[in-house]
Amino acid sequence: MRLITVDSCVSTCILPRATISKSEHIPANSNNTLQIGDVHITGLSDGSISFDPRVLFPEESLEIWEPYYDRFPEYFSGQFFQNNLGSFVFTSGGKRVLADSGFGPHGDMLGHPAPGELIQDFEKNGIGLDTIDTVFLTHLHDDHVGWNHFTTEEMLSDPNRGEAANRSVMPLEKQGVLDLMDGETELAHGITAFPTPGHTPGHMSLLIASNNERAMLVGDILGSPMQATETDLHYWPDWDGPMGIKTRKDILDRAEREDSVVIRSHLSYPGCGTMIRWEGRRYWKAL
Ligand SMILES: [Zn+2]
Repeated sequence: MRLITVDSCVSTCILPRATISKSEHIPANSNNTLQIGDVHITGLSDGSISFDPRVLFPEESLEIWEPYYDRFPEYFSGQFFQNNLGSFVFTSGGKRVLADSGFGPHGDMLGHPAPGELIQDFEKNGIGLDTIDTVFLTHLHDDHVGWNHFTTEEMLSDPNRGEAANRSVMPLEKQGVLDLMDGETELAHGITAFPTPGHTPGHMSLLIASNNERAMLVGDILGSPMQATETDLHYWPDWDGPMGIKTRKDILDRAEREDSVVIRSHLSYPGCGTMIRWEGRRYWKAL
């Protein structure tokens, strides 16, 4: 994983406006969907990979995760983490926002070939790519921008496709479909982006607030379910460790205070849950 320093900001790429036809109806009761007020949310996946926890937490022994094996069996493959590559589609007021675009079909991630399943998952869920109005990127690490190039032929033939930044982000700027944000920005009715720096300088999250219900998509502020409890551990991919820890604590405190659902890309699919208290400690609990 690598930070791409595009003005240290986070971006949205605005795709051509499309209307959502009735044939794009999303099944209401499938287990990867969630309704927050008037906002409909669908969890999608680009696949998942397993790897040694010491990749993300090099200062910690494998044993520290043992107490979590029973609590999060779906997150562990033996002693390894089983990490989802999640994306989310938000539908509100006739607009659709895709949050993050997975790792994509090229290259390898932590020594594993790209699973590259996101486009099939769009199909499986009956969501047409051409119904997405806006692609919101929480940050510009490789595993969140990989399928941006599905938007145009030009990107597929880009000579710099060997490098994720050039392949997945720069062409968007060239095409004039890249918007950079540095503060709170409303993307659709009830869906607002807000800054959560630390994992990267310009990392952004989404607040979904509608009809007195709330959810927050927090990107890689929380990279594993255990970080809801172990907030102080140094998370190697964070650009600024102390800032990452502070932002993590702040957003979890806020989620508890506001009784908000928390949505994250790298938890077990589909990645929506809440914070609970157990003998005084805070834990992630999937919905
Ligand atoms: Zn990530």
